Amino acid sequence: LGIFANLPGVIALATASQKGGVGKTTVCINLGHALARRGWNTLLIDTDPQGGIGLSLSRNTRKKRGFYDFLMAGGNVRPYILPTRLPEFSILPCGVPDAFLKAGRVDDAPQKIQDLLRQCDILGYDVVLMDTAAGLTGITEVAVRTADWVLIPQQAEPLAVRSVPLLLETLARFRSEGSQVRVAGILLTMLLASHEASLKVARELREMLPASFLFNQAIPRDPLFLEASAHGLPLGLLRKNPPATALLFDQLAADIEERTGLNTRKDQLQSH
Ligand code: ADP
Ligand code: MG
Repeated sequence: LGIFANLPGVIALATASQKGGVGKTTVCINLGHALARRGWNTLLIDTDPQGGIGLSLSRNTRKKRGFYDFLMAGGNVRPYILPTRLPEFSILPCGVPDAFLKAGRVDDAPQKIQDLLRQCDILGYDVVLMDTAAGLTGITEVAVRTADWVLIPQQAEPLAVRSVPLLLETLARFRSEGSQVRVAGILLTMLLASHEASLKVARELREMLPASFLFNQAIPRDPLFLEASAHGLPLGLLRKNPPATALLFDQLAADIEERTGLNTRKDQLQSH
């Protein structure tokens, strides 16, 4: 026991954004796949009742139980976890949110999500990605407050310059209220490098925020995402040779390993 005592447990990373349609689910699927490709045992949890993860990565998950069934009933989460094509990459679909939506809330949601993360730790996951619904209320708020890290996908559009500081203020409030969550980074998505207005947003955010807040990588607007989601695949599995945008997620995964300390865990494991 002693030699592993200082190893960190599973790292929980949640997405957050005020708006829908900014690329949260797409980032989770492709980042999860990239982390798994790099050898991390990764679980992607869909906390959005709309259930985009199950629909995107696995067939016939509509009636399968998942996150919301666990949230209502607790118990062992393992039977709800589904495999993907990659052995290191598993998903916990949103399940059947009907009972939750009818009740409107779950009083012990924070304890349930903490228990869920503990179970993931025991099951041997290195990373848990929690995909969330838009806004920072309800279950999304609980998931973000419970996470170690938050990743903020942000569309490269002019409104970002106003919405990012507001989101950061909300996260600072969570911390002042006892949450340990830290900002892993802001990820620009749907960047149109050919359009000055899109590039200008990237520049303005870089000037406005502390240097390390924006990830170096920005995800371009790429029609291949549409094709990938139609096939239920991460971009990296769409073609025999992964498209350039898929390689960006590998760089993003490497960056996240460093920012969250996952990479030091690898060093520690190797040194024993
Ligand atoms: P969210 O989870 O924030 O609601 P999604 O990841 O579901 O957003 O993305 C919304 C839509 O935009 C989806 O149809 C998705 O395929 C598409 N999309 C996401 N990211 C990109 C991108 N970088 N380029 C082009 N289309 C994208
Ligand atoms: Mg989504």
